[in-house]
Amino acid sequence: MSHSFHPPQRILMGPGPSDVSARVLGALGRPTIGHLDPLFIELMDDTKQLLQYAFKTQNELTIPLSAPGSAGMEAAFVNLVSPGDTVIVCQNGVFGGRMKENVERCGAHAVMVQDRWGDPVDPQKVEEAFAAHPEANLLAFVHAETSTGVRSDAKTLCELAQRHDALTIVDTVTSLGGIDLCVDDWGADAVYSGTQKCLSCVPGLSPMTFSAKAVARIQNRATKVQSWFLDMQLVMGYWGGNTKRAYHHTAPVNALYALHESLLILQEEGLDASFARHRENHLELVSGLEAMGLSMAVAPDWRLPQLNAVCIPDGIDDAAVRSRLLHEFNLEIGAGLGELAGKQWRIGLMGHASSRVNVQQCLTALRHVLGH
Ligand SMILES: *Cc1c(COP(=O)(O)O)cnc(C)c1O
Repeated sequence: MSHSFHPPQRILMGPGPSDVSARVLGALGRPTIGHLDPLFIELMDDTKQLLQYAFKTQNELTIPLSAPGSAGMEAAFVNLVSPGDTVIVCQNGVFGGRMKENVERCGAHAVMVQDRWGDPVDPQKVEEAFAAHPEANLLAFVHAETSTGVRSDAKTLCELAQRHDALTIVDTVTSLGGIDLCVDDWGADAVYSGTQKCLSCVPGLSPMTFSAKAVARIQNRATKVQSWFLDMQLVMGYWGGNTKRAYHHTAPVNALYALHESLLILQEEGLDASFARHRENHLELVSGLEAMGLSMAVAPDWRLPQLNAVCIPDGIDDAAVRSRLLHEFNLEIGAGLGELAGKQWRIGLMGHASSRVNVQQCLTALRHVLGH
């Protein structure tokens, strides 16, 4: 006999999902209504406005895609890239590698700009890539690299792309709600995020926004978007403006209640207050870790307050420490990803989980497990 699943109450301080508040879980459990019900359409419209606030954009095409952040990434590429295009892709961690994979699967050529994992994207190298490939019509980079805990200078990178008449794809899965993100001010063209990081909503949705230039490129494509589900021309018919909604797929109704609630919470707190809270808790965590003799993996100027990469000291059994934190303290922290596996821990302080209480719990638990 199978039984109902009752998960324990964990403290989620990894790279996502982050803790979902009772208020958001409460919204998730409200009665399901039809996805073309007029009341649901009002909720969709309000969600679009809240997303415009969070992304700091007036972009008309600002929607939550009904799929996780990885699908947001794929949607950005399949819509903006045509076969034969040249795309400059910055890689300074795991997610830049996935961008390359997306470019190649679109039948396009990826010019890679590589930086050390733990450093930000170097704009000088991007400039050189544009000089060597004047045919490049797109620049793709990750604003907040969750695999390394590094922020890159999105404003400078977007300006650089504009000087070369290229559009930009910007991964802000970990940024949204945690650090400043100014889609219109930067002039970023296709920007995707996720719900389970600093929005502290359930996983499975990808907020996205497209500039007018990006929409024009999509409308002028010579070839069809290779993915039917992610084709923005079709998705626009469902989520779009004031026109009658055409059925495309059944929206994840209850997950959208949860997203709406989490965006309301963000708006009530205010973006600047949320960024300041993430920053204060980060600084408190860092000073506690350093007092314990641990060192941070990223230079101070480029650290993400919501994702703290910590060097694992020699002789410490990475998996054993994480397992004890989980089983003795109900506390999840993240392992190193890719080439950083076994070398770093990733301590998330995302959204609802970015609190003084969590910082202190984490420091206490680590001190205990490490025998300090
Ligand atoms: C988590 C993450 C993704 C993928 O999001 P999923 O919701 O896990 O599919 C993409 N990019 C970055 C930078 C991320 O942190």
